[in-house]
Amino acid sequence: MAGLSAANTLTKNKRDVLIIDKGINPGGRLSTKNHPLFSFDHGAQFFTTKDSEFNELVQKGAKNKEIAIFDHPQKGPVYVGNPVFKSFISTLVSPFNIVQNALVTKIKKEVEKGTRDWCISIENSKPVYANNVILTMPAPQTHAILPEFLTELRQTSLKAEYQPCIAILAGIQLSHDSALILNKNRSTFEPILLEKRNISWSIGKWSHGEKNNTSYISIIIHASPKFSLKNIERNLNQLSHELWGEWKSIISEDNKLNISVLPEQISYLEGHIWRFARVSRIADDSHMRTNMQHSIALAGDWLSGPRIESAWISGRNAAISLLAK
Ligand SMILES: Cc1cc2nc3c(=O)[nH]c(=O)nc-3n(C[C@H](O)[C@H](O)[C@H](O)COP(=O)(O)OP(=O)(O)OC[C@H]3O[C@@H](n4cnc5c(N)ncnc54)[C@H](O)[C@@H]3O)c2cc1C
Repeated sequence: MAGLSAANTLTKNKRDVLIIDKGINPGGRLSTKNHPLFSFDHGAQFFTTKDSEFNELVQKGAKNKEIAIFDHPQKGPVYVGNPVFKSFISTLVSPFNIVQNALVTKIKKEVEKGTRDWCISIENSKPVYANNVILTMPAPQTHAILPEFLTELRQTSLKAEYQPCIAILAGIQLSHDSALILNKNRSTFEPILLEKRNISWSIGKWSHGEKNNTSYISIIIHASPKFSLKNIERNLNQLSHELWGEWKSIISEDNKLNISVLPEQISYLEGHIWRFARVSRIADDSHMRTNMQHSIALAGDWLSGPRIESAWISGRNAAISLLAK
């Protein structure tokens, strides 16, 4: 988000922009897992908007039906991907030059020779040269590639702290009749929400096969920060089964669904570890985030707040700071 936002502001100001991203797909932590039957946003779940520029984009996404409004039980109406964030992100990315699957291993400037260009090394690829650089990766990854001579920016990148998150993606396939039994106490196929014990957030979304009379539930389970931190080095497959078992047991205790119809073997179960999921401490305004002399700026949620919209604002701020040169 921070990278797309920076690109958006720079492009509006007639700068040539190249986005380099190590991810296979764009979006970073606003991430969608591709699957033919199920749809999973296994990173960020929902967002709100206050910033007028970001809100304009979101309203465009809502008009294109890429974004939908979801009634969060505590927060009220929030925005979610419809059915996932993928198409919204694809639209945001479309105006820009972007290379995916490109891990930046180093950025270098030969200061002593008075070189003005940055040389950006990419794993298994030719380096790229640029007059200006905005780094929008999480703080630890930023720190790892910032050169030694940028002492203050390196210090800034040490200020942020993160909580990890273990995310589980579970897909269930049911006959339409079983889906109706499972759902017996409810009038419609509403999302199945859960926040209890080791699970800090879980949502199950329904979809229905048009021809084969089958219903699909795509379930995201986010383990609590405490559980995630304690178990992050454990076997992910084991954790997936454990958290899936916990999900089922809470659902049956709460008598929310008639889980007797759930199949023994679910159709899809995968775990994902977000080591830097939610920023728990941001680098505050007193910490330097732009070096004008060397034409480099930092952006990301770790500089402005642990939210999608904050990441957007930080990207724009970084671009504006370099444009001011
Ligand atoms: C499980 C989870 C749940 C969340 N829930 C919510 C929520 O409900 N609402 C909300 O507002 N926010 C939520 N967040 C936080 C939200 O996702 C982030 O605040 C936001 O997406 C951060 O955007 P960003 O651009 O700063 O960073 P990122 O999305 O992390 O983007 C960083 C980019 O840098 C790339 N990168 C990293 N290292 C390199 C490298 N060496 N070379 C090239 N590219 C590199 C990555 O591929 C990535 O694309 C959640 C996050 C997680 C993980």
